[in-house]
Amino acid sequence: MATIGFIGLGNMGLPMARNLVKAGHRVQGFDMADAQVQALVADGGVEADTAAGAVDGAEVVITMLPAGEHVRTVYGESVIGRVPAGTLLIDCSTIDVESARAVAADAVAAGLEMVDAPVSGGIAGAAAGTLTFMVGGPDASFARAEPFLQVMGKTIVHAGGAGNGQAAKICNNMILGISMIAVSEAFTMAEKLGLDTARLFAISSKASGQCWAMTNYCPVPGLVEAAPSNRNFTPGFTASMMLKDLTLAEDASEAVHAATPLGREAARLYRDYVESGHGAVDFSGIIQMLREA
Ligand code: NAD
Repeated sequence: MATIGFIGLGNMGLPMARNLVKAGHRVQGFDMADAQVQALVADGGVEADTAAGAVDGAEVVITMLPAGEHVRTVYGESVIGRVPAGTLLIDCSTIDVESARAVAADAVAAGLEMVDAPVSGGIAGAAAGTLTFMVGGPDASFARAEPFLQVMGKTIVHAGGAGNGQAAKICNNMILGISMIAVSEAFTMAEKLGLDTARLFAISSKASGQCWAMTNYCPVPGLVEAAPSNRNFTPGFTASMMLKDLTLAEDASEAVHAATPLGREAARLYRDYVESGHGAVDFSGIIQMLREA
């Protein structure tokens, strides 16, 4: 069993850290919100007063932070240059590819091993230990990280070198954002054309329009039992989170001159939805904005 420093015990990090505790690891947790640290302690974790305290004596450091700036700050100020050579660093936050590669390069230069390992699966997946991890980093670092990721997830995929986990995450979520809008548009048009949405679902869920946004997360209620549309769009995955990922995709596509016209349009529509006060609503709620348009 390992000593793990876990920094960032929010909606995702806390249940992930709990699963590591349950698996028998010593988890030294730190979050800027003390209540989150106390929640981990109540479940068998060890309290750390600072990020530096969390990584003291740890063989593995795991972070689950909001964005690239937080990751750069935490690794720059409290991890790299402090932990001994050979320490394994796993960043599970969803951040920009550039920050992920810059932090990994600093880590490697300091004799550390690092992978970026963003997740999909949401809060429910974090609690159940069924997350999907998309991992970027050298083969040897991936091999070391895999047993820890298996405690927190079900599907672990090595996406290539440093930053490729983040690249996979934003490419996947760009597909999801675009396809949710496509499904929302089609079902709204069906309603206006007098086509029963249940009939459209029966056809399209088996035909060439089939996609995850429709069959697992249908924005029209009554068609997919587990979909947030059945619970008045309680998240799930918030529209703000989708906007964050689409903005990361927009920035990345600009940096590498990739043409992503639909990705940009999806970001624009989610920006409108979030700015109209719907940031905390599930991202499938965008159908409401399209209905009213
Ligand atoms: P969250 O805001 O609930 O948690 C982030 C935590 O980090 C907070 O508790 C905050 O206090 C803490 N924090 C911020 N700066 C810190 C610092 N310098 N030192 C220590 N703690 C600090 O967010 P979340 O929902 O847990 O998401 C975390 C990451 O996972 C994000 O990058 C998000 O995009 C990604 N993600 C979230 C979901 C989801 O469904 N919530 C799904 C997939 C990926």
